[in-house]
Amino acid sequence: MKKIIVQKFGGTSVADTDKIKNVAKTVIREKNNGNDVVVVVSAMGHTTDHLVKMAHDINPNPSSREMDMLLSTGECVSIALLTMAIQAQGYKAVSFNASQIGILTENIHSKARIVDIKTEKLKKNLEAGNIIVVAGFQGVTEDGEITTLGRGGSDTSAVALAAALNAERCDIYTDVEGVYTTDPRVVPNASRLDIVSYEEMLELAHAGANVLHPRSVETAKQYSVPLRVRSSFNLDNMGTLIIGVDEMEINKPVTGVAADSSQVRIVVCEVPDTPGEAATLFSSLAKENVSVDMIIQSYARKASQTNDIAFTINKEDLPKALDVLEDVKVRLNAADVKIDENISKVSIIGAGMIDRPGIASTMFQTLADSNINIKMISTSEIKISCLINKEDASKAVKKLHEVFSLGCDEIADVKGTLPDV
Ligand code: ADP
Ligand code: ASP
Ligand code: MG
Repeated sequence: MKKIIVQKFGGTSVADTDKIKNVAKTVIREKNNGNDVVVVVSAMGHTTDHLVKMAHDINPNPSSREMDMLLSTGECVSIALLTMAIQAQGYKAVSFNASQIGILTENIHSKARIVDIKTEKLKKNLEAGNIIVVAGFQGVTEDGEITTLGRGGSDTSAVALAAALNAERCDIYTDVEGVYTTDPRVVPNASRLDIVSYEEMLELAHAGANVLHPRSVETAKQYSVPLRVRSSFNLDNMGTLIIGVDEMEINKPVTGVAADSSQVRIVVCEVPDTPGEAATLFSSLAKENVSVDMIIQSYARKASQTNDIAFTINKEDLPKALDVLEDVKVRLNAADVKIDENISKVSIIGAGMIDRPGIASTMFQTLADSNINIKMISTSEIKISCLINKEDASKAVKKLHEVFSLGCDEIADVKGTLPDV
């Protein structure tokens, strides 16, 4: 049996018809290597951003079901055009959306998880000699509802397909030449990493390095899918390989720096200091599928016997969270709920920081020297995150990148442009 290679091309790689023709060549090159090829594509260029903007022009709080109906159309355009481009080169190709294949997800709109992928149709079509082009980012529930996997979710579609098909590897083609020590748009002399562990990549992705969707890394780790991030525009560069941490040699304490400006901080003030209050607050949010990231409960004030509970969530979830908090505030007898949207989370990540003292203090000192105030701190074994004011984020990333000696002499080649909406 032939080996199966899954290739994924992001929005910049399919931004116009010339780029789609270029992608067709890359796909055909893999087919000519003697492999079966399954291709996953994103919506063209900034299509998804424009669709989001149109929706909000029409309705400031659109229903998540209709958002999924709308956003899933972007990828449907790309698959048909890419398939036509491959066919124009004389190769057999067929496109499928998620419903046609059976990319089954949970019954949650806008950030559904894939629960199963039917492979019969895919295998039958590969056996018939077809290159298969699949719409990324979308799924379908058992009862036929269209879902999406969260922004950037086409990476996860690709890795999940690679796992389901037991593919040889999954190549993520994008607009940079691999995974860098930080976003090369922010720090042009960021270094490209040849190898990075699943564990570090997962932390980087969660910390805002949107080169990979976090769940794609989770899935790759779970099913041991060899994952490569490489450039659509420079096929000579093999990019970055993502593998298990035990296969790596660790030299530096910090592997990368990331910033995430997509969160908001909520403070529930003066919550009575009695058992069960935090459980009530966070279970109410969980019931509405609001994921919470950083959490701080303040030291109880003796006089009033109350705590403040501060936490961060994704700003997309703010309207839902506010609905929940209106009711929870009364149930908890809390004094107030405050929202801070002017925040950014900066993080340093590295498997090399385990058991190495002084990394956190270097981070805090670096921020202090730059006159950057820290609003919240959270840590894991291989990550330290600080919440700071949004306007300080890019300065913080640059300073931390410098202090942990992550730069190189070259300037990264970045093809795309930042979203313009
Ligand atoms: P695609 O449309 O191909 O999915 P994305 O825009 O989702 O591309 O991801 C690629 C972008 O991720 C790059 O252009 C870069 O600006 C950004 N990025 C953020 N952090 C990193 C990092 N550590 N390494 C590489 N790219 C990063
Ligand atoms: N088109 C979707 C987005 O822009 C999914 C993706 O590109 O991965 O978020
Ligand atoms: Mg992406």
